Amino acid sequence: MTVFDRLDRRRTWTEDERIVLDQVRRLCNETIAPNAAAYDRSGEFPWPNIRAINALGLNGLFVPEAYGGTPMRYRLYLECVTAISEACASTGIIYATTFHGMGPLIEFGTDAQKARLLPRIAAGGLGALAITEPNAGSDATGMRTRFHPDGDSIIVDGGKILISNGDVADLLLLFGKWDGIDDPRAAISVLLLERPTPGLAVLRLEDKMGHRASSTAALAFEAMRVPRENLLGQPGQGLPILFASLNRSRPSIAAHALGIARAAFSDMVRYMNERRQSGRRIIDFQGNQFMLADLATELAMAEAWLDHVAAMVDDGETDFGIEASMAKLRASDLASHMADACVQMHGGYGYTSDFRAERLMRDAKVTQIWEGTNQVHRQLIGRSFSAREPGERR
Ligand SMILES: Cc1cc2nc3c(=O)[nH]c(=O)nc-3n(C[C@H](O)[C@H](O)[C@H](O)COP(=O)(O)OP(=O)(O)OC[C@H]3O[C@@H](n4cnc5c(N)ncnc54)[C@H](O)[C@@H]3O)c2cc1C
Repeated sequence: MTVFDRLDRRRTWTEDERIVLDQVRRLCNETIAPNAAAYDRSGEFPWPNIRAINALGLNGLFVPEAYGGTPMRYRLYLECVTAISEACASTGIIYATTFHGMGPLIEFGTDAQKARLLPRIAAGGLGALAITEPNAGSDATGMRTRFHPDGDSIIVDGGKILISNGDVADLLLLFGKWDGIDDPRAAISVLLLERPTPGLAVLRLEDKMGHRASSTAALAFEAMRVPRENLLGQPGQGLPILFASLNRSRPSIAAHALGIARAAFSDMVRYMNERRQSGRRIIDFQGNQFMLADLATELAMAEAWLDHVAAMVDDGETDFGIEASMAKLRASDLASHMADACVQMHGGYGYTSDFRAERLMRDAKVTQIWEGTNQVHRQLIGRSFSAREPGERR
């Protein structure tokens, strides 16, 4: 039994949770992992994987019962994301993105909004979270998409880039600025965009380094009319809603990155035990053992930290933004380092598509970029220790 088995054994899953995990792991082993390389090569959206995930009712894990879900602990949702991402990072991010987009509706939506929109998600609909624009990435306050109130409607003009699930989502959480509010922070508002809506267009799908089977879309909105009842919160409440929702999506991004790290770790260990040079297995060279020891320790720490953050969420704590940033930062840096080491330990073969090491390396990179780049997370974490000066706004 390894340190990771012992870590897993201490996770006290209930019987129902164990059943869900067993089903997810079986699906991953039998269907999702064996097809991951082919989807990576073709870049096709993995609809059969999504249908299989929906057949297990996995969106229901985070949708309240009153709206068609069978909610379970956040830790279980995170473990499902890790398991699916370990098998296929593209499929993992497609599944997790629905949670990232719909979490704010669950947390901040009215009963009427939830009753109308959530059953579709519980039944397997896809969600998206649309924040980024050409001139507004790390600093979302630079967004230019406009929300113009017009009677019972909101007229939307503008566009978004790099939106995961943007072309396939049934429901998009869309951020923009409310006409008539001058302060760029206070103007940010958020609405629920249902597909189809006239005026919503997909401009292009990105040709990416990794996550090639997940879709990443540039969207345009031209005089797009959205019912006013689809506004989430009040005009100008977008930023607090955004921050609160990112706190829950960042551990989910960490869980996804940990899936890639786990895959790279297990492939690396397997190969190091098999491959012989100079009459010895390459795991027997001390320099390689030092490297493996550091990465295994990092993986154990990152997993344990995710358990900690999830326990905070499951216990109902609300102030966990820095913990979430730490989880995202550490897991994504680890995924990149682990995948890089995995390629290195496979030697020349690691650079070919004979092994999945090179795909894991391509898939890992973006985890350091999305949901706040790791530079931004380092700033958030560092700044949390800086004493506030009189009159300073954070
Ligand atoms: C595959 C993919 C999927 C994505 N999915 C989504 C999605 O579903 N929804 C969505 O809204 N967005 C999505 N994004 C966008 C992603 O969140 C942004 O790319 C990210 O936030 C960075 O913004 P940017 O690309 O504009 O980079 P910039 O903000 O321009 O940053 C460029 C560089 O400058 C650094 N930098 C910027 N500001 C600072 C600072 N204050 N201090 C130090 N360094 C700084 C950054 O760390 C980075 O290295 C996705 C991106 C990718 C690649």
